[in-house]
Amino acid sequence: MLFPRLAERADVEAVRFGDRALSYAELATITGELAATLGDTGGPVAVLAEPRLETAVAVLAALRAGVPAVPVNPASGSRELEHILRDSAVTQLLCASDTAVPEPLGDLVRVDVGATAGTGTVRREPAEPPSDAPALIVYTSGTTGAPKGVVLPRAAVRSTLDALADAWHWDAEDVVLHGLPLFHVHGLILGVLGPLRRGGTVHHLGRFTPDALGDALRAWQGNRPVVVFGVPTNYTRLADAAESDPGLARAIGTARLLVSGSAALPEREHHRLTRLTGHHVIERYGMTETLMNTSVRVDGPHRPGTVGVPLDGVALRIVDEYGEPIDARDGNTIGEIQVRGPNLFTEYLHRPEATAEAFDREWFRTGDMATVDGDGYVRIVGRKATDLIKSGGYKIGAGEIENALGEHPGVAEAAVTGEPDADLGERIVAWVVPAGECPGAEELSNHVAGILAPHKRPREVRFLDALPRNDLGKVTKRALGT
Ligand code: ATP
Ligand code: MG
Repeated sequence: MLFPRLAERADVEAVRFGDRALSYAELATITGELAATLGDTGGPVAVLAEPRLETAVAVLAALRAGVPAVPVNPASGSRELEHILRDSAVTQLLCASDTAVPEPLGDLVRVDVGATAGTGTVRREPAEPPSDAPALIVYTSGTTGAPKGVVLPRAAVRSTLDALADAWHWDAEDVVLHGLPLFHVHGLILGVLGPLRRGGTVHHLGRFTPDALGDALRAWQGNRPVVVFGVPTNYTRLADAAESDPGLARAIGTARLLVSGSAALPEREHHRLTRLTGHHVIERYGMTETLMNTSVRVDGPHRPGTVGVPLDGVALRIVDEYGEPIDARDGNTIGEIQVRGPNLFTEYLHRPEATAEAFDREWFRTGDMATVDGDGYVRIVGRKATDLIKSGGYKIGAGEIENALGEHPGVAEAAVTGEPDADLGERIVAWVVPAGECPGAEELSNHVAGILAPHKRPREVRFLDALPRNDLGKVTKRALGT
């Protein structure tokens, strides 16, 4: 059963969005009623994934009915919405009754989602669908190309959530607090379905701000342990705000756990948050296709700059450029991560070739490059497609240079790319957002060469006001001209 505690938790608060909340008893009744009406629809249904209570109700109802839910970003541009509509072939849209539906979704049959129970009599309790049935079709972030529909079976959702519970000692007492978007794995599967599987509480901020997070932490303090979920840009904003607000730093310190994912949290931010709040941020690594693969464990060493060790049930190996497994536990050799386990997706929707290409037999090729420490801690150095730079006969990971640049006081943020070069094959280019007075390009190149190695020196430094990012705060290197 995906949500075994739904019926047990009665008066415990299940979901809170801002000042609106539902208890488990209320949520069970409302989603049971909605599930009964969805049961006969057949194909997948779109859910307008606004950051509000109705989104949690809609997704849970679809899951209970065994109808695959396709979460859709309401703020997507019309081209992306049309792509998702056509690709997923949904005919119905679940959304709050007072919502204005974006134009490209206007032709879908609208199913209004309420947040109050009707008669309270559920006609029939929906039967639990089989564990290999699709639970959700989630579109990838589109960081490297057009978003792909990832078909996620119920078993993958269940196994990833249970493996995280093991790594984080996550239980029914925990309140999960965040302001993440609900159309990706992070906010929706981890951030909403996770607490509901545990029988705990999700408190969504509606919109993430450091002040809203601080207020929510203070409200739960002394009452329930709080686990904060965030993407790196959330944590950077929190650290910035906490520098000048000791009350906020103290409030963050009351959390049981701070968890970061979706992109790398720069090492500098790890150290800054520890200094300000006394916490070591726990980093975990996953993908839409694989759900979660690794995490730093609460009962293990912290190791900033790593994404921890493989989660329970997940097998991870590193392969060379020919796809041959290598022993990379020297903390130095870079290879591609492949994973195998019950957490994996079934297929890319309507893309049998892409699905076949993504696997080496049962191993999924993540496209992420990493080194591994002697005791199995994984350090992601970047993506094969955009972050692995082949320069002067060396394979160099962009992430390492980005972290080194971040250690310079004149750098607010940095991204590193490779560009074709007649001599070197590729040359290292650093894109830098300066902090305060702009440091010289030469000085930054020397800084990197000094702390890493001369061949990791950026050959060119380009300054800009902000890095291009998508809605999860991931740097879109395509927009930097790679
Ligand atoms: P697309 O596949 O459409 O190009 P995407 O890969 O960004 O987009 P997601 O599935 O949302 O879409 O993101 C997964 C990727 O995010 C991983 O492959 C990895 O590169 C990155 N990632 C996730 N967590 C971390 C982390 N803790 N550290 C570094 N990178 C991470
Ligand atoms: Mg991807």
